[in-house]
Amino acid sequence: MDVKVTLLPQDQLKPLYDDPLKLKFGQNFTDYMFTVIHDAGKGWHSAEIKPYQALQLDPAASVFHYGQEIFEGQKAYKSAKGDILLFRPEENAKRFNRSMKRMSMPEFPVEDFIAIEEKLLKLEERWIPQQKGAALYLRPTGIAIEPALGVRPANQYMFFIILSPVGPYYSTGFNPVSLYVCTDFSRAGEGGTGAAKAGGNYGGSLAGTCTALNKGYNQVLWLDAKEHRYVEEVGAMNIFFVMDNKLVTPPLGGTILPGITRQSLLELASGLGIEPVERRLTIEEVIESIQSGKVTEVFGAGTAAVVSPVGKICYNEKDYVINNNVTGPWAQKFFDTLTGIQYGELEDKHNWVHVVK
Ligand SMILES: *Cc1c(COP(=O)(O)O)cnc(C)c1O
Repeated sequence: MDVKVTLLPQDQLKPLYDDPLKLKFGQNFTDYMFTVIHDAGKGWHSAEIKPYQALQLDPAASVFHYGQEIFEGQKAYKSAKGDILLFRPEENAKRFNRSMKRMSMPEFPVEDFIAIEEKLLKLEERWIPQQKGAALYLRPTGIAIEPALGVRPANQYMFFIILSPVGPYYSTGFNPVSLYVCTDFSRAGEGGTGAAKAGGNYGGSLAGTCTALNKGYNQVLWLDAKEHRYVEEVGAMNIFFVMDNKLVTPPLGGTILPGITRQSLLELASGLGIEPVERRLTIEEVIESIQSGKVTEVFGAGTAAVVSPVGKICYNEKDYVINNNVTGPWAQKFFDTLTGIQYGELEDKHNWVHVVK
């Protein structure tokens, strides 16, 4: 794919951050962005890397009215050797296309997706933090931009990528977070869009998230929409339980976002000496197993936080504490192993690391 590149003069580049470990998530953006347009009958065209700038969209653009919007979240890391590393980018490219397809949007070639990210990362290399814990976050996004109010898939789309240097996700560091079990709202229903990384899933989930935050908890733990019993996932992370020395997580089934971190932990588990199990768990089973001591650890898993230990779950207005509200050995092990691989410190036995050339 031909990409037109428009560069800024050196003296117009943004000043770099001071301490990357203090960067808040998604508040700073780099010098450049990528955009490409899709027209029905013409396919993808006009690929461009250009200075970071506001988009000009018609107020009738269908994304504003019918919500055809999907996104991805990835990180680029700097290894001690100075290489730029991506983690399983083809999985993000493939999931991007699955999300696009689910929202009746056009797919983008996987090889081009990765090649464009490589091009952008080489151009923006100075923004990739050297410090472990910090990274350059990539946000590939697809939107419908045809100015038309008829309810149907749009005839014009944009795919853009913006980049944001980020510090560790939680300002408190690698300390346990608290979860609030949402019993009134649901995140995703059967046959819905829960498995697509669609912005609309987040829009609908904010009310539940606000309840959790207002009550002093860090994130929501979602239950299934049908029976309000089965544990599904956390705000932007998949959920894991260490139970009877097994690593248990709910199975994907259309209502859970198929996380790449989730998949990676499942693939790492056996090698680290813990059996991975995908099965449904009710919230009652979880609470009983916390009380009986059968559940020894709970943690979330996602690109932004990598592994996020859970120290407390609130269900029906009662708090249940896990592992004395301290980070457990498995959360630590998975965090160390995964970040070790991502930053190029540990052997990449699974061939997950993509060196940007
Ligand atoms: C992105 C996301 C995840 C985590 O996926 P990763 O690929 O591991 O980053 C989990 N749940 C939801 C709802 C998400 O949007």
